[in-house]
Amino acid sequence: MIEKRPTILIVDDSPANIQALAQLLAGDYQVKVAKDGLRCLELASADSEIDLILLDIEMPEMTGYEVCAKLKANSATENIPVIFITGKNAIEDEVYGFELGAIDYITKPFQPIIVEARVKTHVTIKRQSDTLERMALRDHLTDLYNRHYLMDIAPKKIANAQRHKNPLSLVVLDIDHFKNINDQYGHDFGDEVLIGFSRLLEEFCRKEDVVARFGGEEFVLIIDHCDAASCVAKMKRLCADIEKLKPNGITVTSSFGVTSLQEKDTGFDELFNRADSAVYTAKADGRNCVRLQE
Ligand SMILES: [Mg+2]
Repeated sequence: MIEKRPTILIVDDSPANIQALAQLLAGDYQVKVAKDGLRCLELASADSEIDLILLDIEMPEMTGYEVCAKLKANSATENIPVIFITGKNAIEDEVYGFELGAIDYITKPFQPIIVEARVKTHVTIKRQSDTLERMALRDHLTDLYNRHYLMDIAPKKIANAQRHKNPLSLVVLDIDHFKNINDQYGHDFGDEVLIGFSRLLEEFCRKEDVVARFGGEEFVLIIDHCDAASCVAKMKRLCADIEKLKPNGITVTSSFGVTSLQEKDTGFDELFNRADSAVYTAKADGRNCVRLQE
């Protein structure tokens, strides 16, 4: 994966300050700017790629303190590190900034080398924590969600669907004769098949669906707001798309087991067991097909 340059958002009501900071940082970072707090909040919640915010405190309309408090109160922006950069140099001001959740505090007039060093340190820490989070939730080979994430999110999705009486379907799918692919073409080739297969699953599913690698060549999909009949129709299309994928020229097929949430269900295991047993039926019926177990 190519590492993109980190993105820094500079927020200041003074164009001269914005310019000085932007010039300092443009060599190493992607720089975005906002001239007031409202614009900062808009940019931060619309753009998930902001790695750090340099925030002035004294601004008309909304102060930097208010902006920081709002950023920290919103789950979409709470993890973006905030550094105050300000002419307010009393100890109480600095303490207050930290209480609001800022990670650092730089007073003006600033030393360029200090700003560069602190920004670099905090961006590095942010990137490391993003990587750790990713490693904890994602499968290393395919970058799909891992089993750990699935076991965490599935009960929440199920409880939510039951509470709101929304349909929810669960799919278990398994690549047919995957062992033969590994034996015949080698494990590196097998890995490429898994990666290509995973990209197809991700592209096929909607953003709100959960697409997870359950283990080996077995995958689980949680499809919200979708009843059994629509899910079966959808999976038949996916089954045909997989057959057409032909990674490195060989035909790969898969067997699908579909089930949907019922009122009596109490958790993930029941759904999983039904979908898993439908996979066995699909295998017994000659593979490369979709079977439903209600
Ligand atoms: Mg100002």
